Formats: sequence, C-alpha cells, structure tokens
Amino acid sequence: MPKKPTAKRATSRTRKSKPRQYVYFFGDGKADGNRNMKDLLGGKGSGLAEMTNAGLPVPPGFTISTEVCTLFSKAKGRIPEAIDREIDAYVRKLEKAAGATLGSTENPLLVSVRSGAKFSMPGMMDTILNLGLNDLAVEGLKRRTGNGRFAFDSYRRFIQMFGSVVLEIPKAAFEHEFEAVKAACGARLDTDLDEAALRGVVQRFKQVVQKRAKRDFPQDPRVQLSMSRDAVFRSWMNPRAIEYRRIYDIPDHIGTAVNVQMMVFGNIGDRSATGVGFTRNPATGKKEFYGEFLINAQGEDVVAGIRTPQPITELERVLPKAYRQLRAFTTKLEKHYKDIQDFEFTIQDERLFMLQTRSGKRTGYAAVVIATDLVAEKLLTPKEAILLVDPESLSQLLAPGFDPVEWKKLPVATRGLPASPGAASGQVVFTSERAVEWSQEGKKVILVRRETVPDDIHGMFVSQGILTATGGMTSHAAVVGRQMGKASIVGAGALEIDETARQFSVSGHTVKEGEYISFDGLSGEVKLAQVASKPSEILQVLEGTLDAKKSHIYQRFERLLSWADKYRRMGVRANADQPDQAAIAYAFGARGIGLCRTEHMFFGEGRIPIVQKMILADNEADRRAALQELLPLQREDFYGVFKAMRGAAVTIRTIDPPLHEFLPKREDLMVDVARLETAGKTGRELDEKRALLRRVEQLHEFNPMLGHRGVRLGITYPEITEMQTRAILEAACRLNTEGLKVVPEIMIPLVGLVTELRHQKAVVDRVAVAVMKEQGIKIKYLVGTMIEVPRGAVTADQVATEAQFFSFGTNDLTQLTFGFSRDDVGKFLRVYQERKILEKDPFASIDTEGVGALVRMAAQLGRKTRPDLKLGVCGEHGGDAASIHFFESVGLTYVSASPYRIPVARLAAAQAALAVRVGD
Ligand code: PEP
Ligand code: MG
Repeated sequence: MPKKPTAKRATSRTRKSKPRQYVYFFGDGKADGNRNMKDLLGGKGSGLAEMTNAGLPVPPGFTISTEVCTLFSKAKGRIPEAIDREIDAYVRKLEKAAGATLGSTENPLLVSVRSGAKFSMPGMMDTILNLGLNDLAVEGLKRRTGNGRFAFDSYRRFIQMFGSVVLEIPKAAFEHEFEAVKAACGARLDTDLDEAALRGVVQRFKQVVQKRAKRDFPQDPRVQLSMSRDAVFRSWMNPRAIEYRRIYDIPDHIGTAVNVQMMVFGNIGDRSATGVGFTRNPATGKKEFYGEFLINAQGEDVVAGIRTPQPITELERVLPKAYRQLRAFTTKLEKHYKDIQDFEFTIQDERLFMLQTRSGKRTGYAAVVIATDLVAEKLLTPKEAILLVDPESLSQLLAPGFDPVEWKKLPVATRGLPASPGAASGQVVFTSERAVEWSQEGKKVILVRRETVPDDIHGMFVSQGILTATGGMTSHAAVVGRQMGKASIVGAGALEIDETARQFSVSGHTVKEGEYISFDGLSGEVKLAQVASKPSEILQVLEGTLDAKKSHIYQRFERLLSWADKYRRMGVRANADQPDQAAIAYAFGARGIGLCRTEHMFFGEGRIPIVQKMILADNEADRRAALQELLPLQREDFYGVFKAMRGAAVTIRTIDPPLHEFLPKREDLMVDVARLETAGKTGRELDEKRALLRRVEQLHEFNPMLGHRGVRLGITYPEITEMQTRAILEAACRLNTEGLKVVPEIMIPLVGLVTELRHQKAVVDRVAVAVMKEQGIKIKYLVGTMIEVPRGAVTADQVATEAQFFSFGTNDLTQLTFGFSRDDVGKFLRVYQERKILEKDPFASIDTEGVGALVRMAAQLGRKTRPDLKLGVCGEHGGDAASIHFFESVGLTYVSASPYRIPVARLAAAQAALAVRVGD
C-alpha cells in the first residue's frame, strides 16, 4: 500500500497551528488584548483590555472580535458553531472570575452586552443591560442585595431593552404599560413605584412580549445572550449607523466587536452613581476635570439626557474617596495614552469601577489647545502633536462668530450649556425631516429639540446649530454637535417645546417654526432674532483687525502649523484669482499660487461688456481691439496677485471656459427679443439683442464641458493667449523694475495632445520675447500645462517635452475618467453611495484606483522625460486630507487649495509626510 505522506503532514500541521482566536478575555488584572488591537477588539474592547492590564478596577468580561461580525454578515446572520462554543467557554470563565453564575437563584451574574467598533459611533448601535435576569434570578438578586425594588426595576428594564432591541417591539408598547401602572398607583415619578408595583410591571411587560413577538420572554440566560449578541451585530447595519458611517467616512466592512461584561450597579442607593467625563474640557481644551454624574442611576441615564446630571466636581463632596480615585486613575490614563481621555465609570456602594476609556472627541478649537498644551507639558513632542489633530477640524476655527457689539444689544432669551462653540443663526425647525427639507431649499435652519436621538443625525448635519431643552454636556446632542463642529447648546431648561404645534415658548415669548433665532455655542446664550456673524478670531488676526498677542487661540494655531511646516515635504499653494484672495491665502501660509483662473477676472466690475465685445467680434481686428481694452485690466490683476504673493511662484492659467458662458442665456435673450417685438419696439436695443442671440446660437454647444474650451480656444483665437501672455509679462517686468523678482508660470488648460501645447507654447514664447524686448528686461518664466484630460496623462512623456511643469486638474480628470459630469453627478451619486457602488464622492476625495492611477502614471512618465519636472495638483482634491496623503505617495511637488483650506492642507501634508514614504 502506498503511504499518504501529504495527508499526514497536513494533519500534523493543523494540529500544531494555533486555532484562530475570536474571543478575548479581560479580568483579574490580566487581559488577552491591548491598546493596539482596535481593529479586532474595537475601541471599547481594546480600552477595557488596556485598563485591566494597567491594574485599574474593571469588571471582568470578554470581547467577541470584529471578525465575528464579518462572519455573521457573510453567513446571513448566523454565528459559526465553533465560535458559539468558544463563547460558551468564555461565559464559564467569566462566571468564575465574577464568582457568580448566570441565572443563579443565589448569586446571579448579570452582564451588559455592548457594541464597540474601531471608531466610536455614539448612540448608533444597540446595548443591552442587566442580561441574565429571569423569574428565578430576579429573586436571587433581591436576596443578594436585600433590595427587592432594585431587583424588579432591573428586571423590567431588561425586558424592555431586550424587547425593543432584540425582538423589535416598539418602545411605546412598554411605555404604555408602564404609565398605566404608574397611573393606577398614583405615582408621579418612576422612582415612586415600589417592589409590588414593579412586579406588576414585569408581568405586563412579559405579556407585551408574548403578544407582540408571539413568544415567551426567554428565561434561559444563554439564549438571552446569543440573541442579544446577534442583535448587536445586526445593529451595525441599521440605517442610522450606515448614515453615520457615510458622514464620517467609516468603511462598512470593518464591523463591530461585542463586549460582554459583568454588570456593576450605580443604581442601588445613594452611595452609588454612574457618570462620564473627560480629562480636559472637550469644547475649549482647557485643562480641567470635566464631566457629569447621576447618583443612583444606571448606564445610559447620563447620556440619554432625561435627567440633568450634576457636574463632576460635585462628586468630591458627595463621594470623596471614589472621586479621588477617579482623578488618579484618569490622570494615569491620560499620561499613558498621551491624549485627552473620555471615560465612563460606575460607583457601586462607594466602590469605583472603570467601564471605558478612549481618546476624547473634541472640537477643532479644543484639538489645537490640547495638542499645544500637551507639548508644553512635555507629554508629547511637536511631531506627535501634529499627528493628534484632525486636519479637517482646523476649518472649524475659521468659522464665523457674532459681532460682540451687535450681540450685546439683544436681550438674552435663555441660557443653556455651551456644548460646542460657534455662532448659529437661522430659522427654527422642530424635526430633522423639516431641517433637511428646508436646507435643501437653501434656508439656514436651527434644529430645536427637547433632546436629540441618534435618528436625528441627518437633521443635525444640515443645521446651522442644535439647541436642546434637556441633557447635559455629554448628551447625544452635545457629543454629536461637537464632533460635527456645529454650534450646539443643550439643557436650555427654560424652553417649553411643543413639537406638535411647532413652536416653543421662553421668557414670555412664543417662537414659531420658521422664525429666526441665534445662539452662541461658546457662552450658551440664546437670542430671539437674526444676528449677523463675524469672522473668526484667527481671521481677524490675519486681516490685521486683532492683535495676535491678544488671541490665545491664534498663537496656538500658528504654533501647531509652524511645527507642521517643519515636517511637510510638499509645498502648499493656493487657488486664488484676486489680489485680496491671494493676500488671505498668503496669511494662511500659502507660499505660491497653484491656480489663477483668469476667466474669473473677466467677471470683474465693468468688464463683462468688454468681454462680450470681444466675443461678438466677427473679425480678428475687432476682437483684437476689445482685447486691447482688457489688457490693462488683466495686467493690474496680475500685478496685484504677484505682489500679494511677495515673489512666491504664481501659476496663471490661460482662459478655460467656453465663450458662451460670458454671454446672457439663450432663453432669456429669446424672451427679451419677443417682448420687444410684440411691443412694436424697433431700433438699437432690439438690434443688439438680436445680434447677441445670433452669436449665442452660433456658440451653442450640446456638451460645453467637452466642447470649445481650454486650449481649444487658445488655438482658435490665439490673440486671447497673446493678450494674456502680454498682461502677465508686462506685470512681471514692472515688478522686476520695482525690485520684486517674480517668475511667472503660464499654464495651458485641457491639453490632451503634445501638439496642442506646442502650438500655445510658441504663442507664449513669441509674445514673451517681444515684451521683454520692448521693456528691455529679461525675466525667467515657465510654460506648463494642466493634466486633466486622460489622453494628456497617458501621453505625459510626450507632453513633458514641451511642459516645464504639470498641474493635475483632478476636477476635470475625475469627470473625464469616470465619464461623470461635474455638474450633474448629484443626480445619482447618493444612490451610488447608498448602494455601495461607490464609497466616496470622487469629486471630493480622490479615487486612488482610477483617477489616482492616471496621476501616478503621468507623474512617472513626465519625470522620465524631464526629471526636474514640477508636479502640482490644483483640483479640489488639493485641499482634502485623504487625497493629500495620496499625493504625498506620488511625490508631487506641491498641492494647491482654496484659501480657507490652506491650514488643513499644511497639516495634512505634514501628517502625510510623516506617514508615507514617497513611492510607496
Ligand atoms: C480641474 O479641472 O481640476 C481644475 C482645477 O480646473 P477647473 O476646475 O477650473 O476646470
Ligand atoms: Mg479643469
């Protein structure tokens, strides 16, 4: 018989290799996981593991990894049997560590089942508390705690949570029964119900389950556990979680982990509490212990915003020992993680337990303050501080505020808790649906709610600001508002909101839907009027209206960005067309203009008639005469832009859009002509309108984006390129005589053929030589091209024989690579994203695989021909952090972004340089 060596070897190899671990334990001072395992354990799971390893008092438990979520989805909502058995083994381990048993009548173990993805998604997914209770265990809990009211209150909460989350029974069905019992007992508050009443509630809740779910409430804790676990996995794909991930660009495939942890109770009397907090103020960044708690409360009560909690400093007075411990632990955690921590804790009979720690979400303002403070405190190096700030959050610091003088004139209608800074002014709406609807009509709205819930996410996103009547600084509205960088005020308790009548009243006034209010998210003041806003403090410094020394935030902002400048490799330029825009871009730190769209200058005051004259000319001589009129105006513009950039490189692009864009609309002209004709008017006006209409009809194109624009215009009307070159060179010569050396970069748009560029370069060179001769000055200038047509990218080695630089026009390159019209993509993009055909909007963040591949290829081909070829990008992607990472990897020379995005680009470029090696 022949042997079967392969089979044997395979068996022994299988036996040796360690089976994959899907469940990770933490407890008794030791954990299987650690802080570096967020991908697998989620943020919560990895934090619990790390705190356990650090010796902090963490109730024991285990984390079911995110890989199981993926398997669960693939298997259409089933967990492989082997993993089920693994979980069972960990339940036994947990019972041992806890010294309690699930379902026991003597000492029952109760657990929480919570979601926890790599990126925190507050309130988006489901949680179950008090799992393990059944008709017998509840008696065990009563016996163990000597508190029957507590035991039955925990049981009814569990049935309600399980019923709504796992069995999908509407919450209202339980609330209805609860209110009926309260009414029967004459109870006003939930806490007025005694044990007997709560036993009645439990009975009624079980009947609700029986009636609505057509099954008994499951008594077996193992069944409760597996059903809850599956519900939490399912909640990863609920619509609000999907919407949240879409807004924050979190990929769907990463899944959530599930944490099963021994319950501790903050609701067993006045020596117990539960709370949340931050090691620093997450709104302002100030170094202060910050947070809130509720005595005798459980889990979600603090963040749910139903009871207004007390500030955490009060805890020192009420439970001093636990408070001191909490301060010590959280300080230790902040030092360990070198970042602001957001923590959750429970105190059970004066004993402190830590339930969560993670990097705290913060406003853009706080992010800058914290990063610079941590360097001053020597916890971080400048290089680490750069990596701590989300570049996008810097744009929040540039958001406007109110004019303090105007603001002071109005009476304060009410005050709330200042949850997220910023000035908000807009029309009141009471529902998220209305917020979305009105904002689509171009209205500015403020969402006013008693409290927000995760389902409000889309309404919050489109609002100018969020104002709630209840809740604390860590309520949903506060956390989410801060994260979105939206001005938010919460807990404005004086507001009496009537959502059905769509109005609220406060201090004797009634405000109806659609009326204006304004509020300041930094002071918490609300006023019943529309108030104009004012530029941010940083902008005031840059514009010279505020002394930099008086602005605490400006100084830190500048410090952080100057660190970033040290570490970035790529240059940062601006897309700016006017001298004032260029000046602000320079002040924001741009050193150069990457794109000056000259056609924007044609829209300047008094210029359109001249431009129209140029377009209407039916012979070259008339066209040249009109261009001659435009020449001094363009020369002034260029002079101003060069000057504002103080000698840094300025790239000026020759005209790009089709000429009909400068003429009135065809339909409007037709109406005008018809009106004049019916009124029997003859004469000059009618003749002019008719001539204009004729020319508009001649220039009409079916697809102007693919039509007579860019280099094609320059080739058919070389006199336009001539005039623009002359204006650029004359401005440069003048500055050179004034002592400012400038090197203009003249850029030809929409090139797909090297012959196109060759033609235009010849025009530019001829005019440049002539101007320099006239002026008696020799100046250096460059001629380059935009790479924005796929053919230009594919033949970039040829194009580079003529081009001294490339600038990637990723707006057009995206349009032409996808075949998606830049102007019409909105019609289907959302559906594409919802159906997962596309993850991101490719016009906002570069499509690395398609458009990006063309950029990479063109960069390589171009540099093959001309190793010193300057490479830039001037599409919108030049101001997008994720795209900037990609451009770093391609080895571009610079990115160019709109003026207000310059700080974002500086920081993102530094982060990219620290993270990426060019050519990776
Ligand atoms: C581009 O296409 O990326 C670009 C910068 O040019 P424009 O947006 O003016 O077409
Ligand atoms: Mg373009």
